Amino acid sequence: MTGKLDAVRQNRDALVRELEAVGAKVTTGGMLCPFHEDHRPSAGVYQGKDGAWRFKCQACGVCEDIFGVRAKALGKPLAKVLLEASPHAANPSSPTRARTGHRPAGRGKERVYRDIGRPPGRPAWSNRL
Ligand SMILES: [Zn+2]
Repeated sequence: MTGKLDAVRQNRDALVRELEAVGAKVTTGGMLCPFHEDHRPSAGVYQGKDGAWRFKCQACGVCEDIFGVRAKALGKPLAKVLLEASPHAANPSSPTRARTGHRPAGRGKERVYRDIGRPPGRPAWSNRL
């Protein structure tokens, strides 16, 4: 059942196309990372021991396969992306629809900090010391 997804993971061109779709720029010296404000190419793709190609950014530390890249770019849970990519997905048009909801990458940092919330050391339930 995961055979098709594994085939996609092992397709370098598919990963590169996905990265370009979310804003990565492939250059001779490497790749401009779509997940942070990248001015020098600090990212690239490599093939893991399992045969899957992964994107890795040396600057911001993102390391994802094609589905992880898609999930991150769309702000969706990985499980949902995998479900949509699965050959058994009920709605074959959903990947297209997912793409139209795509937000530009690279300015998610503020949101990440907001989601983390209150600084550590003061749990919400501690009213006194
Ligand atoms: Zn990066």
